[in-house]
Amino acid sequence: MKTKLRLLVSALAYFAAACVVQAQDLGPQVQKIKEGIYVYVGRNFNSNAGIVLTQEGVVLIDSGHNPTDSRAILEAVKKLTPLPIRFLIDTEPHPDHTTGHFVFSPPAVIIAHEGATESMKGRERETPDRIQKLAGASPEMRAALEGYRFVPPQVEYRQKATLNVGERTFELIFLKGVHSEADTAVWLPKERVLFSASGIVVNQVNILRPFVTIPDILAAAKMMKGLNPEHVIPGHGTPGTVKIFEDTEQYYASLLDRVGKMVKAGKSLDDIKRELKMPEYDHWASKERFPTNVEAAYKAVKGN
Ligand SMILES: [Zn+2]
Repeated sequence: MKTKLRLLVSALAYFAAACVVQAQDLGPQVQKIKEGIYVYVGRNFNSNAGIVLTQEGVVLIDSGHNPTDSRAILEAVKKLTPLPIRFLIDTEPHPDHTTGHFVFSPPAVIIAHEGATESMKGRERETPDRIQKLAGASPEMRAALEGYRFVPPQVEYRQKATLNVGERTFELIFLKGVHSEADTAVWLPKERVLFSASGIVVNQVNILRPFVTIPDILAAAKMMKGLNPEHVIPGHGTPGTVKIFEDTEQYYASLLDRVGKMVKAGKSLDDIKRELKMPEYDHWASKERFPTNVEAAYKAVKGN
C-alpha cells in the first residue's frame, strides 16, 4: 500500500514537473488555465489574450496588445497544435485588442458585438498615423507590423451568441455600458472559465468614458459572478477568480458612498474632484484615470 502511494506521489510529481516544463516552453507570458485553455498574459497591464484548443481547431479571445504580442501568440499556438485558428472573438474593439487581427485573419473568422466595426473605423479616421507611429516604437514592432491590414470583424452578433467548436461551447454575452461600444464576455460553461473583458480590471483604476455608467459596471459584475466561474480572465490584469468582481464592487461602493456624502454636503463636481481621496487604493495603477471615475460616480449619485 505504502509503495503504491509512493508511486502515485512520484507519478503526480512527474506530471506536475511535465506541466511546468510545458508552460516554460510556451514562454513566460503564457499561463495554463485548464487542459487546452491558455492565457497570454499582457505585461504591465497590457491586454490579455485567450488560446482555447478544441478537436476542430483553435479559438482565440482577443489578438494581443500589440502586433509583437500577436506574433508571440501565434508562435505559442503553433507549439500547442497543428490545427488552424478558426475563430477570433473580440472582447472589445479598441486597438490594444484588435490591431493584431491581420496576423490571424484569414483563416480566422473574427466575431464581435454589433458596433465593433463602427468603433474600429472611427478610431482609424481619428488617428490615421497610428500604425506608422506604432512601427516607430522599435525594430521588433516594425517587423511585427509587416503585412499590416485593417481587419474589422466579419461577424457581428447582437446581445447573445453561442459558438460551438469541436467539443467546446463558447457563450458570447454583450456587456452594455462598461468600457467600449461593444464589450463581450466569453463564457465556457462546461469548463467554468470566463473571459470577462475590460469593464472590470485588476489592481488598476479603469477609464470610464462618458457613455460608461457605474450601475452598468455593477450589473455586469453581478451577472458574471452569477455564472459562478472557477477562473476569471480579465481583459487586462492577472487572471484570477470571482474575487476580481468582489474587489470592483467594493471599490465602486466606497466611491459612490463618498461622492454621495460630498454631494449631500453641497459640494460641486469640481470640489469633489479636487478633494476626494481614496488612500486605500493608492497602490492601484493608472490613477490619472481617477477623475473619470469621480465624474461617473457624480452622475450615478445625481441619478443621471
Ligand atoms: Zn479598451
